[in-house]
Amino acid sequence: MSITGKTQLVGLLGYPVEHSLSPAMHNAAFRSLGLDWAYLPLPTPPWGLANALRGLAAMGFHGANVTIPHKEAVLSHLDDISPEARTLGAANTIVVRDSRLLGHNTDAHGFRAALSEARCSPRQAVVLGAGGAARAVVYALLDQGVKVTIANRSVERAHRLIQSLPNLAASAAACALTASALGPALAAADLLVNATPVGMWPRTEETPLPAGLDLPVGIAVMDLVYNPLETQLLRQARRSGASVVMDGLAMLVHQGAAAFRLWTGEEAPVGLMREAALKALDCK
Ligand code: NAP
Repeated sequence: MSITGKTQLVGLLGYPVEHSLSPAMHNAAFRSLGLDWAYLPLPTPPWGLANALRGLAAMGFHGANVTIPHKEAVLSHLDDISPEARTLGAANTIVVRDSRLLGHNTDAHGFRAALSEARCSPRQAVVLGAGGAARAVVYALLDQGVKVTIANRSVERAHRLIQSLPNLAASAAACALTASALGPALAAADLLVNATPVGMWPRTEETPLPAGLDLPVGIAVMDLVYNPLETQLLRQARRSGASVVMDGLAMLVHQGAAAFRLWTGEEAPVGLMREAALKALDCK
């Protein structure tokens, strides 16, 4: 890929950004479609966020992704916010139009697309965790009419997540991340989603499931952790006879594909983006 004076630019605002798979995914997609576009990592410390956003518009960027720690803070700097980003209280994608910054959130879409790709249509789910990723997952599930139990270390935070989605709260419950509280919720569920970082490299032997708790046979399991791709939880799921086992890369690729569409107006080459992400993860 050669960058010229005509190359259209998008980037990633976060801190740190060096481990992100997004530059590899998006640049591979641009190349494969013959688009003269480039995706640049833009390491932005919190004190620089406001200036960096003004810079995006000033330097003619078409948009950006936003990652940790800016997904929530970015909202107060945007000219317009999509209904989904407003509901989730976070934006992960910015589109620049006529020097105006428009905020979107493609995480819930990424999760829905990952479920749909695996032909998984749950009716009752358990989500482990109550942070930013859990919020997108819980919203996507409740919005599709799925009943959700949120199990979190801090039950108070799980309750706060439910209260922050008042129109959907009736189908949600909260419990502690303990075997006794989680057991009955799991027994009634057909989907388990791990939205905690437990099991992530380098502590790959850890699982978010409390000790002594077995997964019900036939449950579908998605782990949002994608490094490693095959987590301890997913190994437990395979051993327990899970009906579907989904790794965290599917959601990552689909949220990226949605951002790609917003910027370029083109359909994203999802399979190729996954291949590029896998290569960047060095999993091949
Ligand atoms: P976050 O906002 O910091 O939330 C982390 C959540 O995990 C909190 O609910 C926290 O519980 C819980 N947690 C943390 N350490 C724990 C432990 N040792 N035991 C039990 N619970 C623990 O993080 P996030 O942004 O939601 O991200 C969560 C994970 O999802 C990360 O691994 C991230 O890489 C992944 N993710 C993946 C995708 C994807 O596309 N695949 C997208 C977004 C995020 P407390 O509230 O009790 O602290």
